[in-house]
Amino acid sequence: MATLGNAAKTKEIIQKYQFTFQKKFGQNFLIDGNILGKIVEAAQITETDCVLEIGPGIGTMTQYLAERAKSVVVVEIDKNLIPILQETLSVYQNVKIINEDILKTDIDRIVREENDGKPIKVVANLPYYITTPIVMSLFENHVALQSITIMVQKEVADRMQAVPGTKDYGALSLAVRYYAKPEIIMKVPASCFMPRPNVDSAVIRLIRYDNPPVEVRDEAWLFSIIRASFNQRRKTLVNGLSNAGNLGIRKEKIAEAVELMGLQPSVRGETLSLEQFAELSNYLFRAEA
Ligand code: SAM
Repeated sequence: MATLGNAAKTKEIIQKYQFTFQKKFGQNFLIDGNILGKIVEAAQITETDCVLEIGPGIGTMTQYLAERAKSVVVVEIDKNLIPILQETLSVYQNVKIINEDILKTDIDRIVREENDGKPIKVVANLPYYITTPIVMSLFENHVALQSITIMVQKEVADRMQAVPGTKDYGALSLAVRYYAKPEIIMKVPASCFMPRPNVDSAVIRLIRYDNPPVEVRDEAWLFSIIRASFNQRRKTLVNGLSNAGNLGIRKEKIAEAVELMGLQPSVRGETLSLEQFAELSNYLFRAEA
């Protein structure tokens, strides 16, 4: 039975180990058992799953995960938390603790060694300062995974799930939709954490597609086009893309592609769907040649 997941027990552990919270590591520990239960439920963990938890803190969510999963691998950057994790997780034989920076961790190796190369599930209350790099590196490096269920800053969850033409829509929304189906599960108030963060949070689940919903000639090129389209949000798509020196595409070529797609010359990038960006990127692929 999970013993953590409340303020009293969290305080007790922190005092016992004289642990001091490190702001630079985005440490806000969950102290609400109800929310923890809902996250694990949303992640649809079963006894055949291998779970990767990024940033376990004192092991609060890990306890909930370990009770349902076949195995749990936790990657924690803060060495001061390792002795604490060794105590709070000592009763679980199916947990492996790794003291590393997740951005430098060989996750493919974890998948191979801990799950015979079969897709894992990622669950985390993420350190907010590196949410996007963590999610993007999991996707871009094609880590074998079924889903990512994460607590993030509410604004980031909104951006991940945003649709064309809304203020939150941008490069992150498109990148997420290229790889996965996003679904915001619930909002979580600051009072559920110790210490309280200055922002509201939300849990979002990203279910990875077996194949991306669009076909592109070159993935990296698609994302270069997307990024350039949102770099100058207030410009038209044609001007934004022709100003992006790194792409090296002539303005006439971009205008031609926009016309061929049946779009207005004044169209802005923020109104294009993923399908339209894919079509545009295919038109413009090696357009300079
Ligand atoms: N999972 C715990 C919970 O819900 O109570 C802690 C979540 S806290 C928001 C984020 C955790 O990620 C902290 O334990 C922090 O030390 C860890 N962390 C921060 N940066 C990290 C990194 N680059 N690699 C691995 N862990 C990291």
